[in-house]
Amino acid sequence: MKPNFLPKLINDPLGDPGMMVEFLYERRALQFDLGDLSGIPNSELLKISHVFVSHTHIDHFIGFDRLLRVVFGREKTIHLFGPENFIANVEGKLAGFTWNLVDRYSESVTLEVTEVHADRLLKVTLRAIDRFQRSDEREEPFADGVLVDEDGFTVRTAILEHRVPCLGFALKEKYHVNIRKERLEAMNYPSGSWLNELKQCIYEGKPDDHPLQIPSRENGCREKSLGQLKEELVLISPGQKIAYVTDTVYNESNREIVVDLVREADIFFCESPFLAEEEGRGLERCHLTARQAGLLAGEANVKKLNLFHFSGRHTFRTDQLVREAEEAFREKSNQKVSESA
Ligand SMILES: [Zn+2]
Ligand SMILES: [Zn+2]
Repeated sequence: MKPNFLPKLINDPLGDPGMMVEFLYERRALQFDLGDLSGIPNSELLKISHVFVSHTHIDHFIGFDRLLRVVFGREKTIHLFGPENFIANVEGKLAGFTWNLVDRYSESVTLEVTEVHADRLLKVTLRAIDRFQRSDEREEPFADGVLVDEDGFTVRTAILEHRVPCLGFALKEKYHVNIRKERLEAMNYPSGSWLNELKQCIYEGKPDDHPLQIPSRENGCREKSLGQLKEELVLISPGQKIAYVTDTVYNESNREIVVDLVREADIFFCESPFLAEEEGRGLERCHLTARQAGLLAGEANVKKLNLFHFSGRHTFRTDQLVREAEEAFREKSNQKVSESA
């Protein structure tokens, strides 16, 4: 299965946290956390449509200015999501600059900002052309944890403990569209970019009578309906799940919330600042140890664990962080196997 979402950390695991997920079939990306973004080219930052901020400690939010700088002066809307007090934090950033000339420009970036509370979402619109003054303030009930629900995917959140509320996230592709290679040859269809268009039409939920042009070497193009092509060529399988959890404490209630959020993820991006021997430090600073990251991954039965947010004090012991997480991950997974045997 060729994945549709391509996640990558924005820095190495000792640098500021953050993950970018690029779409394979669209010029678009989702950004999780806004740590230092200086390593990301402008062309990639311009793909970002949604930003999910776990919390606004400086290492997770310092990149806001860079993103704003790159998108400023463009006709573009960016959706930002964050925890309690997020709207005030975004407005605080914006208040640090002077916007006296923005109304002279015809293109204007718009920020749609959502603040997540346990039972409600607070939303505001901030337009550059209005000098980023609040408009369209509204409140919506919030019960199911789903922040974004599009044709192809959802993004779910859970509120975690970090002495401030901190959001964990799970991106889930609703289903995965596979092209059956053997049928492609049997039906004498060419490969090429028209297959991406076919996939895109399915993700967008286009109707079955939607026409598609199939290039052909002999006679230009031939037309088929989306419904026909689905029947002939397409296999639908379960979608990819990518989870992202950072800056949180390991205790009974939090453990359950994390496991529930990241369950069965294909890739689980999890912080692991500290070594197992620093459990006390982790508890005090509300962060996980590598071992705890491994235990969470094992309990949630994820396929792959990807560690990040290593403490700078362990620059020369990153191997140990990885080893401790892997051991715990295996231990917990094995335990599962023997429990079910
Ligand atoms: Zn942090
Ligand atoms: Zn933090």
